[in-house]
Amino acid sequence: MKQKINIRLSMIALIAIVTTTIGITLVYYNLFQGQVRRDLKQNAVLLVETEIFQNAYANGKESAENLEHLSEGNLRITWIDADGTVLYDNDTDISGLSNHLNRPEIQMAFEKGEGESTRRSDTMNMNTFYYALLLNNGTVLRVSTQARNIISVLVTALPVIAIIIVLVLLGCVLIGHFLTRQLMRPMEEMAEHLDDNNQIPAYKELEPFVDKIRSQHENILAAAKSRQDFTANVSHELKTPITAISGYAELIENHLIDKEVETHIAGQIRHNADRLLSLVNDIIKLSELDHKEIPRKFEQMDLLEVTRECVNEYMPMAAQRNITLTISGISAGIIADRSLIREMIDNLIQNGIRYNKENGSLFLHVTIEDGHPMLSVKDTGIGIPANQLDRVFERFYRVDKSRSRETGGTGLGLAIVKHIVEIHSAEVSIESVVDQGSNIIIRF
Ligand code: ADP
Repeated sequence: MKQKINIRLSMIALIAIVTTTIGITLVYYNLFQGQVRRDLKQNAVLLVETEIFQNAYANGKESAENLEHLSEGNLRITWIDADGTVLYDNDTDISGLSNHLNRPEIQMAFEKGEGESTRRSDTMNMNTFYYALLLNNGTVLRVSTQARNIISVLVTALPVIAIIIVLVLLGCVLIGHFLTRQLMRPMEEMAEHLDDNNQIPAYKELEPFVDKIRSQHENILAAAKSRQDFTANVSHELKTPITAISGYAELIENHLIDKEVETHIAGQIRHNADRLLSLVNDIIKLSELDHKEIPRKFEQMDLLEVTRECVNEYMPMAAQRNITLTISGISAGIIADRSLIREMIDNLIQNGIRYNKENGSLFLHVTIEDGHPMLSVKDTGIGIPANQLDRVFERFYRVDKSRSRETGGTGLGLAIVKHIVEIHSAEVSIESVVDQGSNIIIRF
């Protein structure tokens, strides 16, 4: 981050320096050129006002040779006859000078009375500025001077610009360093107090990011807590039947069992072993359902048909408890994992029988409502108190613990149902009245 800020700051500074330098140089060079031109014109006018050339002309063109040396400085003065012949030049021997009629400033002066032009000098970094003025005797007086061109000005400024760039870059690194520290400090503080929901992020832009991390953090904590609770519950649930089996085994080992109760004890051992088995089975099922990466075999099926298969299987169990088990409804196509759907219906039927009353009934009804296939499992059993309705889907939650255990319940059936419902993006709802019965509805 620090490096990025440094690089960006340096880039911005560099671009700013370069564009400002070029801009300022252009503006000042224009002003400077204007000044040079104005000075040239002024010099030409002054020279004309001295009437030196007019007088020399009146005395015959040859007398121009006798003109005293007019300027020692940077100013070159050239006097040109109407035919372009150079009559006088304060800088060069006129015998070596060619006809000047082709010079643009001279042509312009003959045409309009005055003319000017700029040409690059033989020396690379200089420009020559010319100004020519037509005299009333038909000759032209031209003054010229050399001045630096823009490249030369820039090259001269280069060392200073380079020093400025180095200093600014150093400044950028320093500012970058402090800026990063300043930016990072609130973030570091926030990272330390991530658990504290009252801690508001220092930067508004970070709010979604912080919210996301916080919710993930909370989810991780909740998942860890639920895993811990689950492990504690599992250990507790396993302990009871194991202790019972171990106790009975000890009695047999020490020959403390009378012949008459031997069968009863064997039955108890088998009962506890069955409980252990169903517990382990349900735990395995739940852990399989927890693994989202396990591939599901989704296929088209008829909900009514699958329900019927399950109902047929539980007919003997229902009959044993004098419970009437009926199925009704219409065909309803769903795309689902057959074994999971069977598992779900099995659990609901088991509960419907387990928590029913003597001579009670259990109705399974399949229908389609607003285009959604639905299964309702309705019993005339003991019902669930309203305040516990939303807890029955929790793992190991039982309303009536002893009844659940006696009838072979594990406390995991509805947790498995809820899981399967979620896998199929379906919904489960429960209606129940104590002593009258419950209705569990699955909506696909
Ligand atoms: P269990 O193996 O104990 O039946 P479940 O997860 O299937 O576990 O159900 C949780 C609890 O919800 C049960 O212990 C029972 O108290 C209550 N329950 C479930 N289904 C019914 C029902 N049809 N009628 C009355 N109570 C029910």
